[in-house]
Amino acid sequence: MLGWQLCNYCHGCEVGPKPDSPLYIEWRANHECQKNFAGSSNAMEAEAAVAIFRRSINKRGLVYSGGGAKSTQKINEVAVYDFNVEKEDCINQISKRMFNALENVKNSNIKELNRKLTKTNIEKITNTYATNLKRSAPDTIQMREDVNGGIFHIHGILSTDAKPRHHLCPTGIHSWCYFQRVLALGEELRKHNTTIKAEVEKFILQIVERLTQPDLLQRCAALQT
Ligand SMILES: [Zn+2]
Ligand SMILES: [Zn+2]
Repeated sequence: MLGWQLCNYCHGCEVGPKPDSPLYIEWRANHECQKNFAGSSNAMEAEAAVAIFRRSINKRGLVYSGGGAKSTQKINEVAVYDFNVEKEDCINQISKRMFNALENVKNSNIKELNRKLTKTNIEKITNTYATNLKRSAPDTIQMREDVNGGIFHIHGILSTDAKPRHHLCPTGIHSWCYFQRVLALGEELRKHNTTIKAEVEKFILQIVERLTQPDLLQRCAALQT
């Protein structure tokens, strides 16, 4: 173990996009994390194994969804490597369905949606969907709730200054949600420009409803043990 520096601070993680950000998945896949230790000393071997696991996942172009809350499962995650790869594939697959469904609804309602459901917004919704599925698997109820929370949270799509929709976001000063943090701190919210109109909402929510049905999520969730 000579030369192995214990470190649980990573500047990249500190300044990089947080898990609720649409940029997170892509960032995480390419991020060489400087944290090599985030547990008690007897967890170090597991951490070292996980670092190798992460790197091999990254090399295959797949996204690893590890996080602090999952630290106790780390050895298991390494042991069920193949299952995790399958789970990632499954979530990537249903995320493509989300992307296609949004594109299709846009193309069949071009008059209403053309300028509003932009490619950027479609990508944001799809990334939010995938991130939350990965984060909350294998609990399908939680997956469904977190996807909804994440999508309501996206500013300028379903949430606006006039009508903030952060009711499903975690509360408190440590929340990843800016709105909830500001609320807890009693500070003033930054204003944003928003152009999205309420009629877009029904199209998006119909698709989210369909693609968060428990039987669909169960297929992917079951692959993670
Ligand atoms: Zn990092
Ligand atoms: Zn929020």
